[in-house]
Amino acid sequence: MRWERDVPLGPLARYRIGGPAARLARPRSIGELAAALRDAAGREHRVLGTGANVLIGDAGSAEPVLVLDGEFASLRVDDGTIEAGAAARLPALAGAARRAGRDGFHFFEAVPGTVGGGLRMNAGSREDWLWDRVRWAEAVTPEGELVRLRPEEAAPAYRHVEVPTDWVFVRALFTATPGDADAIRHAHLTFRERKVRDQVYELPSVGSTWKNPGPPHPAAWRMVEEVGMRGVRVGGAQVAERHANFIVNLGGARAGDVLALMAETRRRALTRFDVALEPEIHLWGFAPEQRARVGAA
Ligand SMILES: Cc1cc2nc3c(=O)[nH]c(=O)nc-3n(C[C@H](O)[C@H](O)[C@H](O)COP(=O)(O)OP(=O)(O)OC[C@H]3O[C@@H](n4cnc5c(N)ncnc54)[C@H](O)[C@@H]3O)c2cc1C
Repeated sequence: MRWERDVPLGPLARYRIGGPAARLARPRSIGELAAALRDAAGREHRVLGTGANVLIGDAGSAEPVLVLDGEFASLRVDDGTIEAGAAARLPALAGAARRAGRDGFHFFEAVPGTVGGGLRMNAGSREDWLWDRVRWAEAVTPEGELVRLRPEEAAPAYRHVEVPTDWVFVRALFTATPGDADAIRHAHLTFRERKVRDQVYELPSVGSTWKNPGPPHPAAWRMVEEVGMRGVRVGGAQVAERHANFIVNLGGARAGDVLALMAETRRRALTRFDVALEPEIHLWGFAPEQRARVGAA
């Protein structure tokens, strides 16, 4: 497997933030992925989808980074199912389902990212989660073994699955039952319109910064707003005016700018609501004390 050295991660990540990867490989098949994992043996590795949910530190990643490519981008619609490689984009999955008249994929319209990232994050909307549609998903272990998981084995929860963090998802089979084509088109269109109206697509972001703490607490965006953080800016980063749970990169933002906004938001929410907000986004390349400031595990 060919490893590239000192690869800038900012251009590969949706936030356009982050220093270089010391080593980066782009496996195009399960064989290449297993070889890359063997090369990386003994070192924690990281998998980057589109970085639509990751804040990468300004110093980058000392850990080897894997970006799936080639055959991992496949999408195949069959009778009652869609099989997708982990590098296939979620909106492409939604588009394939819409064109084939398959029900239940509208919520991937306008969710940036890959199937692999979606499996890891259990991406979804308030009502629908990715794993609700999964028949099985396959992952490669650090030892190069291919494992097939059923949903009950992955134990999907809110933006979380109980699958070792060093396993790499490679493929999933989704249940995709035929439905009424007009109703499906309408569901996709209205979902996309609502997302684009209420959230921020014109500036780089990584979506919702904080997990919703759940009842009896208000939604995370409301807490951010009520502690006066909407619109607050540090360097090139700003708590979005349109959606207070988004932090956008206005141009030239550094990871430190985003971290400062997160730390201040969390401090204020703790004081005002006695709630310790937990990041929904994943943080790479930060020191333990930086992670602790924003409540990252
Ligand atoms: C404008 C906007 C709107 C969004 N709306 C939503 C929404 O409605 N619902 C929602 O859930 N999310 C939303 N998000 C967040 C994001 O789209 C999802 O979390 C998406 O699943 C991230 O996919 P990714 O491929 O970019 O993953 P990345 O951000 O690259 O990675 C996320 C995590 O998954 C891991 N990972 C990636 N690929 C693999 C793999 N193949 N195997 C194992 N681990 C892997 C990474 O290591 C990392 O820990 C939004 C983001 C933006 C910018």
